[in-house]
Amino acid sequence: MPHFAGAEPAKVPERLALAAKHWDRGIIYTNGTLPLDPNLPFMLHISLWGAEKTDAQLRGKHAFKKALDNFANDERAIFIYTINRQNISEMREVAEVCAQRRVQLSFNHYSPTRWYGFSGADLQGDVLSRGKGRFSSHDDQLALREEDLQTIRDTILELLEKYPATIIYSRYYNERINNPQGMFRLDPETGIANNCVILNAPHHREYRTDLTWDDADCCIPNTDCATCRHYVANYSKIMGEFHHHLDNADDFEKWLEVYETWCRLNIRNWND
Ligand code: SF4
Repeated sequence: MPHFAGAEPAKVPERLALAAKHWDRGIIYTNGTLPLDPNLPFMLHISLWGAEKTDAQLRGKHAFKKALDNFANDERAIFIYTINRQNISEMREVAEVCAQRRVQLSFNHYSPTRWYGFSGADLQGDVLSRGKGRFSSHDDQLALREEDLQTIRDTILELLEKYPATIIYSRYYNERINNPQGMFRLDPETGIANNCVILNAPHHREYRTDLTWDDADCCIPNTDCATCRHYVANYSKIMGEFHHHLDNADDFEKWLEVYETWCRLNIRNWND
């Protein structure tokens, strides 16, 4: 299944149209500010970084409102809220907006790049002037702390109860992803996760925009495996643990719930 990801796939509609001739499933990761051909058969994962003001501050433009206007009535669309330290408190507000507009919402965890640094200890000098670091300081940054993970876990459980038709999220995934230990085992020499499905699946192949490809690259550039909680990689990690969930019915049900959620996120009309 192809994943069409950033910069911004909506800027190359001719490539998406060509892809649609060859695949009837796939996912486009977009900021939602440009319309997409309603005939494309792919799911749309629309990025979101908080309520309107925070989202605009972190991304440099008012993308949320525009994305809602473009895709509120599009059954392919799921808004993916990247939770970070600066927008945790806005999860409820955004869920309410999505419920009112009848759009589906799921969550991703902000996963710092190697440059960004988890503790903030490296956020100095020129690092602060680059990329996402430009809004950060030692005391005011995006990286999640252990206590944030607990808050996220509890808030998502609350939202699943309150907005069952809006929130697409797995309860078992919620437990696992918010465990401070993380899911990946790191190679002590390289710091790269040696049990990451994205890196190790034989069928995974990453094509760049010039159509050169690599089967060894992580498709989430520069992310630090030590703190990687990206939803694509971590859902895939649990999906790949099928054989570890066969000892009893409870464990299997947990795995199945993740699988079902993954299908709702990635396969169009799954509920039908
Ligand atoms: S998806 Fe995450 S864990 Fe896997 S290689 Fe990339 S950064 Fe590391």
